Amino acid sequence: MSKKIDVGVLGATGMVGQQFIARLANHPWFNVCWLAASERSEGKPYADAAPWRLATPMPDSVRSKTVEACEPRRGPAVVFSALDAKAADVLEAEFAAAGHVVLSNARTFRMDPLVPLLIPEVNADHLDLLSEQKSAKGWKGAVVTNPNCATIVLAMALAPLRQFGINKVSVTTMQAVSGAGYPGVASLDILGNIIPFIGGGEEEKIETETLKILGTDGGRSRLNAVISAQVNRVPVIDGHSMTVSVDLLTVPSVDEVVNAMRTFSGRPQVLKLPTAPVPPIVVMSQENRPQPRLDAGLGDGMTTSVGRVRVCPVLTHKFVALSHNTIRGAAGASILNAELMKAEGFFN
Ligand code: NAP
Repeated sequence: MSKKIDVGVLGATGMVGQQFIARLANHPWFNVCWLAASERSEGKPYADAAPWRLATPMPDSVRSKTVEACEPRRGPAVVFSALDAKAADVLEAEFAAAGHVVLSNARTFRMDPLVPLLIPEVNADHLDLLSEQKSAKGWKGAVVTNPNCATIVLAMALAPLRQFGINKVSVTTMQAVSGAGYPGVASLDILGNIIPFIGGGEEEKIETETLKILGTDGGRSRLNAVISAQVNRVPVIDGHSMTVSVDLLTVPSVDEVVNAMRTFSGRPQVLKLPTAPVPPIVVMSQENRPQPRLDAGLGDGMTTSVGRVRVCPVLTHKFVALSHNTIRGAAGASILNAELMKAEGFFN
């Protein structure tokens, strides 16, 4: 077996950082050798710096590792970024300029025309942007991003429908509290309640990122469609659900839509990447599924679940979709991006 690739985690102590630690602990290709976070955590053993909030125990391999400052050149060539958005705005470019490949969860570079906004099943070819990125930005390294945690649910569910001509999409989300990091939304605000607003331009992210992901020429030519998103924070711990209505130009039958989703597959499945879900989309036949508590963990959190595919009297079709927000919507997405990059020779 070839030697594992050393990787680091920026923002290793946060909600998404912890998912990285958990999911990389026994990864067959990657070895976590460097942990970094803010001044608050610097110099502390990881077990003291990270308020562990996952249901699985903290891996022994990181407990006594000292958390370091997020300084470029100190860590290995490949770094996953789970940095707070403001910190990412400054630090990710510095790491890329210094020669690191940054696999980012932050919004900073998602809409940059020279940065792939990658979902390996959907737009693996967008990695072609990297050679142009290097010359245009003068970075020795690179930045590759994954989508917002709600965008990825919608983009995965829509990707198999591109063949029918996507014209209009109306989506309403029900997003878990873990999507806001820790401590996130106050318990008195969210318990027994729904909050019809999520800050940070969440609706705009869904409306714009999806069109870049489903576009061509690395996303520079956007999908020619219009999306309207309405977002809600709901008292669910993990798993972003959404109800979607879509207008498809060729008006396929419901069975054709279901079949397109069920048979959808991409580069991760062809390459048999270690964390690729097989199949990437599960279409459930029960009329009351998917549900976040029962289905967010499907495929080790990497599967997108779809249900209730039916005719829409306003647009052409409607359905429910769900993915795990801190796994498929964050750490798991970045790790799959890194697996694709390794398999396609970008880490040589
Ligand atoms: P979080 O729990 O608040 O964690 C933020 C991390 O950033 C912590 O490790 C923190 O370190 C570190 N940090 C903050 N300021 C820093 C600075 N100035 N220098 C270095 N490190 C700094 O946030 P999260 O929910 O994990 O989200 C992390 C990123 O992923 C965000 O950009 C978020 O938008 C994105 N994202 C989150 C989700 C989700 O479902 N939660 C999904 C997709 C994308 P300390 O512990 O030392 O303060």
